[in-house]
Amino acid sequence: MAIRNLLNRSFVAGARFMSSWFRNIEPAPKDPILGVAEAFLADQSPYKVNVGVKCAYHNDKGKPVVLECVREAERRIAGNQFMEYLPIGGSIHMIEESLKLAYGDDSEFIKDKRIAAVQALSGTGACRLFAAFQQRFHPKTQIYMPVLTWANHHNIWRDAGVPIKTFRYYHPESKGLDFPGLMVDIKNAPDGSFFLLHACAHNPTGVDPSEEQWREISSQFKAKGHFPLFDMAYQGFASGDPERDAKAIRIFLNDSHLIGVAQSYAKNMGLYGQRVGCLSLLCENEKQAVAVKSQLQLIARPMYSNPPLHGALVISTVLGDPELKKLWLKEVKVMADRIIGMRTALRENLENLGSPLPWNHITNQIGMFCYSGMTPEQVDRLTNEFHIYMTRSGRISMAGLNTSNVGYVANAINEVTKSA
Ligand code: PMP
Repeated sequence: MAIRNLLNRSFVAGARFMSSWFRNIEPAPKDPILGVAEAFLADQSPYKVNVGVKCAYHNDKGKPVVLECVREAERRIAGNQFMEYLPIGGSIHMIEESLKLAYGDDSEFIKDKRIAAVQALSGTGACRLFAAFQQRFHPKTQIYMPVLTWANHHNIWRDAGVPIKTFRYYHPESKGLDFPGLMVDIKNAPDGSFFLLHACAHNPTGVDPSEEQWREISSQFKAKGHFPLFDMAYQGFASGDPERDAKAIRIFLNDSHLIGVAQSYAKNMGLYGQRVGCLSLLCENEKQAVAVKSQLQLIARPMYSNPPLHGALVISTVLGDPELKKLWLKEVKVMADRIIGMRTALRENLENLGSPLPWNHITNQIGMFCYSGMTPEQVDRLTNEFHIYMTRSGRISMAGLNTSNVGYVANAINEVTKSA
């Protein structure tokens, strides 16, 4: 009896100790996007439109899409593949195909085995792996990020323990690129700085440098010895042509830079939830590439052991088969063209309504998002009076627009902005 009492007492004391360390944990701040999603779901209006949180492509009927090339790849994979672990660095076939996409089919760097590459947990995982690698081998160097950038970039490098600096990028007045500001900031950064660049379809602004501007950026990088990591989350999704969307990378390669590339198959292959991507680093020679790859694997091993298999099988099946690849190229163009078409429709509708404001930035910008320039108060009116949901930054996810709602959205935007 005495022993039981003693045990009970120590159990109660133990439980008190266990609960106390959770008691001190505050809830994390809510992501503003979640609030928008909840409000959208709760809205009973038949007119409601969500152009805030749809980071995934939806077709003209507002429905998510599984690409036909992916369906066919899955038919071929089903029951024909073992489901054992991949190596730490992932699928060799998937990596080979990814490198061809990013560096070009006939890239001398691939032939010379100068690229250290590992499969990654989609674009986010590729960025995080790079950030951890940077922290380990260049611990004192900060990373320069554009103002603005995808909000998660800040979280990724912060959690990896890398100090973050910023460089000018978006110009609010023109709703375009602050090219002079960007060039000055690149010039003023210490020699050998690390820069995060969006290869195409900049998120959240939709503003990309022109080819000529990329050339100037590349030559300034050369002069300063900066290192670029290209985040390429939207290859093919921007223009409809993966080759064209890799232009910035090819310009840097022509200028003999060493570069990093974070690739994602979320958008361009519609494999959002499969978490499949690739991180590659172009080195000076094969020996360096072998060493770098082994260190990337050393970082990956204790984080997640090895990457998921299914998405990698889908990618290598689609990109490794000329017929399926042709189908993919067709399908990715259909998605990009729909988004580009919605940009034209939104702009034309606003102009036809006699909006006193210029809307050319809608069609000048590219990719999934349009940085509309609307104020937080105008966005509030869109939501409260017209049941149109987006974040207060005024960023419109073009995937949420379709031929049935674009006229309604244009009319609402005109109503809330015409007296500005
Ligand atoms: N980079 C950018 C710029 C993005 O917009 C996204 C997706 N929103 C990602 C990376 C990562 O996406 P994922 O991890 O789904 O590939």
